[in-house]
Amino acid sequence: MRLDATSFGHDIGAAGRKDLNTAAIDQTNARPLDKMTAPMIDPFGRMVTYLRVSVTDRCDFRCTYCMAEHMTFLPKKDLLTLEELQRLCSAFIAKGVRKLRLTGGEPLVRKNIMFLVRELGKEIEAGRLDELTLTTNGSQLSKFAAELADCGVRRINVSLDTLDPDKFREITRWGELTKVIEGIDAAQAAGLKVKINAVALKGFNDAEIPDLMRWAHGRGMDLTLIETMPMGEIDEDRTDHYLPLSEMRERLERDFTLKDIPYRTGGPARYVEVAETGGRLGLITPMTHNFCESCNRVRLTCTGTLYMCLGQNDAADLRAALRSTDDDAYLSQVIDEAIGRKPKGHDFIIDREHNRPAVARHMSVTGG
Ligand code: SAM
Repeated sequence: MRLDATSFGHDIGAAGRKDLNTAAIDQTNARPLDKMTAPMIDPFGRMVTYLRVSVTDRCDFRCTYCMAEHMTFLPKKDLLTLEELQRLCSAFIAKGVRKLRLTGGEPLVRKNIMFLVRELGKEIEAGRLDELTLTTNGSQLSKFAAELADCGVRRINVSLDTLDPDKFREITRWGELTKVIEGIDAAQAAGLKVKINAVALKGFNDAEIPDLMRWAHGRGMDLTLIETMPMGEIDEDRTDHYLPLSEMRERLERDFTLKDIPYRTGGPARYVEVAETGGRLGLITPMTHNFCESCNRVRLTCTGTLYMCLGQNDAADLRAALRSTDDDAYLSQVIDEAIGRKPKGHDFIIDREHNRPAVARHMSVTGG
């Protein structure tokens, strides 16, 4: 079986298709099983130990910087089943993934998602995985927090850009702040460590960030700020709200004492300690400083497409590999071939001259 552009799920847009590396792998040459557990090391010597899985591209919110109001989602028939996603995750775990994040779309709106969480939780119990976590908008947390904790999830990220109910409705289009706060309450009551993620948006929430930070730290939660990235067409001009975090940091430093600390959670955030609150502030700066040199991640979509970089179009079709045989040796070989193409990094730019998405797909496809 050969992999080529036509064998990819259609979550690769036109831009993606153009850049596809049409790998050719003969299934009969798949390596024997004992090679399946060799670590995944990319051409730049970076070891891949972190897998992010977008379990659905659907979401119950329509955040204005993330999605257009009227999105076309993938047909359900193109989705991998939860069992197939589990098989892919297990293949990655066998190949050295130690941290796995479920994301989306909104991971908790995928039907029966707790089946996958429970199965992956067993990998933690067995010592094959160090951490199972998820990124969520919090809308379904009241319902699922206790079960997540029971399955071995210890930390979650909740995306929350404002504490003002009207602004929350404006940015999410469909969201209700009280539901998210109830979800955070439920998560903390269940013993989950919660980190708040906020996209810093000029003229929208920049003035509120100090209050958001005091609130998060007051509840024992880290706050991480994210620069808005040029991914997918939305209904507005991203330049209007783009805020470099170097600028946000300078503004915060007028009122707070920020000290760089080596604390890491295995992701791209760099942390400072805030003397006045005693809490931690994370900064994710894909635009102003991309940290690609330490990238340890790859991203799997709900159709089984593997993106080796959030900001590039090259991808590998694991769905075809998965469905072509029950033998994981071939799948393992396709994964190795893809890791061998992991690019050095992305090159996002947002300014008036580069006023187009760097990649056609939305963040909800690849998973944030
Ligand atoms: N629904 C879940 C949530 O809200 O956290 C998971 C998926 S969402 C795509 C993951 C994260 O990506 C969220 O924190 C969201 O704010 C962020 N995000 C979405 N589009 C973005 C963009 N264009 N630039 C930066 N962050 C973005």
